[in-house]
Amino acid sequence: MRTIDSLGDLRGKRVLVRSDFNVPLKDGVITDDGRIRAALPTLTRLVEAGAKVVIMAHLGRPKGKVDPAFSLAPVAARLGELIDAPVTLAGDVVGESAHATVAGLNDGEIALLENVRYDARETSKVDEERAELAAAYAELGDAFVSDGFGVVHRKQASVYDIAKLVPSAAGLLVFKEIESLRKATDNPERPYGVVLGGSKVSDKLGVIANLLKKADRLFIGGGMAFTFLAAKGYSVGKSLLEEDQIETVKGYIAEAAERGVDLVLPIDVVVAPEFAADAPATVVDADAIPADQMGLDIGPRSRALFAEKITSAKTVAWNGPMGVFEFPAFAEGTKAVARALSEGDMFSVIGGGDSAAAVRLLGFDEKTFSHISTGGGASLELLEGKTLPGIAVLED
Ligand code: ADP
Ligand code: MG
Repeated sequence: MRTIDSLGDLRGKRVLVRSDFNVPLKDGVITDDGRIRAALPTLTRLVEAGAKVVIMAHLGRPKGKVDPAFSLAPVAARLGELIDAPVTLAGDVVGESAHATVAGLNDGEIALLENVRYDARETSKVDEERAELAAAYAELGDAFVSDGFGVVHRKQASVYDIAKLVPSAAGLLVFKEIESLRKATDNPERPYGVVLGGSKVSDKLGVIANLLKKADRLFIGGGMAFTFLAAKGYSVGKSLLEEDQIETVKGYIAEAAERGVDLVLPIDVVVAPEFAADAPATVVDADAIPADQMGLDIGPRSRALFAEKITSAKTVAWNGPMGVFEFPAFAEGTKAVARALSEGDMFSVIGGGDSAAAVRLLGFDEKTFSHISTGGGASLELLEGKTLPGIAVLED
């Protein structure tokens, strides 16, 4: 993958940067600026190199139309505070205002184009439409730095097409993400454990299929565990169950046995009569879930089992919470897995939007993990072994 160094001397050059600034907003106020902070190393580096920085980013889903509710104005303001320099927001994506804004930049200054998804061509499935918008971006920049890890799995104008038109390279965030995720998937130090959870098996079929070929231990928790328990013939009561996936899951159980992969399923479950924070919780064995109860977390014996087998691994990739961690009564399984990853002497990688959020919400120090990915979809696709368009284009 080409790095920023490959772009040579950037002083006075206009450098387009794709960042992921898709932050959560409540009443126009940013509730978590993690994604903006994650973009700072690359932006600082470019500013220090004397580049004229032109950022492309999206916010929400304005569906190809200008909609002030999705303006990047709050992002521009927050970025200005964090980087302690003015950030000029253009009034449009590639129109007169964008051109005037970029023309007004001095060396080391930053401008932000308006939400790229105001322009329907950004996400168009028609190659020519995206190429047309990319050509308009190319008029605003002499080089391109791809640093929006959350969007590198998308074939979009500001992610993929622009990289073909001007000299392009990976930013520091994208570089670190790819390096860490590849270290945890391509050539892991063994034993290699993969912990999967979250709500649906169907979201993660590709990941399971790919990692069954690579992992030594595969841990299944969260809502998806119940489809595995059902495939073993257990009743799962009112738990989340994807009946149409039972046959596929039976295939995975058989494949794990054939390949000698240690498939670790919950042996006990925290159940409750309904999906609610204050629902009365009890612990039952995994093969004794009452018909009128639903499993909302892995039980204490499962936590101990998972923790022991995680801690003794040398590489662990984790995607998906073990239970409904949003409710404190059902957060213990997720906490136990997070603790095992943070305390173990291993290379640990966390991917997935909710898993990363869980680790922060539960109060773990992010520095005790080797890497917490900023991209949900992109990190899943890497775990699936897929080629990401926004990365491949930086490797040609
Ligand atoms: P990620 O974003 O990390 O990939 P997912 O989006 O797949 O994770 O799943 C996260 C969601 O799964 C959380 O909101 C959590 O409450 C839910 N979940 C976990 N365990 C269960 C369960 N036993 N029943 C229902 N939902 C669950
Ligand atoms: Mg999620």
